[in-house]
Amino acid sequence: MSNVISPIGSLNRRQFLSTLLASATVLTVSGFAGSGLARATNVSPPFTLPPLPWPDDALNPHISANTIGFHYGKHHQGYVNNLNKLVTGTPMADQPLEAIITATAGKADQTAIFNNAAQVWNHTFYWNSLRPKGGGKPAGALIEQIEKDFGGFDTFKAEFTKAATSQFGSGWAWLVKDGDKLAITKTGNADTPFIHGKKPLLTIDVWEHAYYLDYQNRRADYIAAIMDHLINWEFAAQNLAT
Ligand code: MN
Repeated sequence: MSNVISPIGSLNRRQFLSTLLASATVLTVSGFAGSGLARATNVSPPFTLPPLPWPDDALNPHISANTIGFHYGKHHQGYVNNLNKLVTGTPMADQPLEAIITATAGKADQTAIFNNAAQVWNHTFYWNSLRPKGGGKPAGALIEQIEKDFGGFDTFKAEFTKAATSQFGSGWAWLVKDGDKLAITKTGNADTPFIHGKKPLLTIDVWEHAYYLDYQNRRADYIAAIMDHLINWEFAAQNLAT
């Protein structure tokens, strides 16, 4: 997220905005409407789309630049835009994304904020869960813990694949740390494991928009391509270590 750097350190974002708007009003009155309004409207929105960790064609041929163009450029950007519309001018505009997700989870009157905030978070986590020339097996402490908690890498891979293929409708498959143990979980729509006390290590997006342009209805082929060629085990290992 990008927070505006206040020229007056002690002001929070809302106070800073009020100051800007007040100065715009003063400038309007004193005849400098142009510059004053330009300043006010140049205030950047609370959240911005994080850059992809690789070029948009880097996952070819397993996930095409066309899919990334829509998935990142339209869907992920859309969640960011919607979230900004919903929180700009509210106290949430000053809060970290995770705090907004936690505060709105399960609240019937804040579903739209939760859905868009969690989808912003989930997608950023998903891009980082993928990398060119990924896939295969992890190393080090991660493979040791996978072998301990799942009884072997092949068992883990089969269970993770099953979770991702069997999620009914839109959602996500996750490798998480749940207490002292690794576990596989799936979530529907925008739901995300950390609001349930589980630490995400990896995810696969199984919404149809993630694979339909490249795989049409063959979700299992998309998941197999990720497991064999794209999973970023280094990212999962970093998440396990921190
Ligand atoms: Mn998606």
